[in-house]
Amino acid sequence: MTSHMTTAVQPVSGDVRSACALASGACSGRDPGGGFAPLTDRFGRRHTYLRISLTDRCNLRCRYCMPAEGIPYRPRAELLSFEEITRVVRLGARMGIRKLRLTGGEPTMRAELPELVATLSAIEGLDSIGLTTNGLMLERLAVPMRGAGLTHLNVSLDTLRPERFERMTRRPGLQRVLAGIEAGLAAGFEAIKLNTVVIAGENDDELEAFAKLAIERPLHVRFIEYMPFRGNGWSAAHMLPSGELLARLRRRWPLQPSGEDGPHAVVRSYRAPGFAGSIGFISSMTEHFCDGCNRIRLTADGAVKSCLFQAAEVSLRDAMRSGADDAELALLMHRALSGKWARHPSAEQLVDGQGRAMTQIGG
Ligand code: SAM
Ligand code: SF4
Repeated sequence: MTSHMTTAVQPVSGDVRSACALASGACSGRDPGGGFAPLTDRFGRRHTYLRISLTDRCNLRCRYCMPAEGIPYRPRAELLSFEEITRVVRLGARMGIRKLRLTGGEPTMRAELPELVATLSAIEGLDSIGLTTNGLMLERLAVPMRGAGLTHLNVSLDTLRPERFERMTRRPGLQRVLAGIEAGLAAGFEAIKLNTVVIAGENDDELEAFAKLAIERPLHVRFIEYMPFRGNGWSAAHMLPSGELLARLRRRWPLQPSGEDGPHAVVRSYRAPGFAGSIGFISSMTEHFCDGCNRIRLTADGAVKSCLFQAAEVSLRDAMRSGADDAELALLMHRALSGKWARHPSAEQLVDGQGRAMTQIGG
């Protein structure tokens, strides 16, 4: 089998077989019963959640996500086809993947998305399929996506003010996103989550406005700490720790832990009497949640990444296109996982990172 490690990034150390043995106790990627070994890393973390970036393209240009100089989009032929994605998911399900999330770039920029969701939702073993979207196309897509079997919907929205939306995303569109959220609720998605990146001096004066949204509508607003990625202008001064945001909101509402977060949840959720939804905090920078990490990622061009922040990756696309069988792909997935960090470095250490931009990895 040829090597499918990309060369420009830090390699996973060690021999494939010993690394795999370290990661799973099964050096061939197979379990003793002849099935595929579960995706367990060397710290005993079992990976059951696959996040798939469908494209590196986007119809917005969020300042905190896209570098100012833009992203050189990969040629279409370099992205995984729907058939290739389906093959990886089918194999992943046999290795214990139970939960999928489709993300990007902007995943709704892939045509025929409902057809992909319908195909994926028929795969045995999966419990849920979620979508993370900027919401611009949701008004049209909410009903077909629900019908195709999408179970969870996350919409990213950082401001409720049109001019600010245009400044933060470098494009107009707030009304379309709000209409998309309403369409999602009308289509019957329960517990729609709003992802709101909080940036000091940019949108931190809207915390209360977002909280009011969670009072009035059954929406789960999650405030996300601003993370550093290549070329995204991050500085410590712009990052607001979740603890400060919670303290500020508690001056107004008696927020208490909602008790609804699962063991692998990256969010800490709170409610107060009268809230139709909830408020949550994703504190990737001040309070990492790596110990319970069960996530593995597939980039739009078919690389497996074991961590959002880790540069090492293994190309399944190259392997598939050079005729690898499922056993070889399984081995490569174990190999990608074998070098996974116990936890990611601090924000200050990450800020000079040379990895991909967020929109190329898939958030
Ligand atoms: N385009 C889709 C969207 O915006 O929802 C999916 C991809 S986007 C990269 C996924 C998530 O990453 C979004 O919720 C976005 O707000 C978040 N994100 C992007 N850059 C970030 C950063 N620097 N810090 C924290 N979250 C970020
Ligand atoms: Fe596009 Fe999502 Fe990144 Fe904004 S956060 S530029 S919508 S990929």
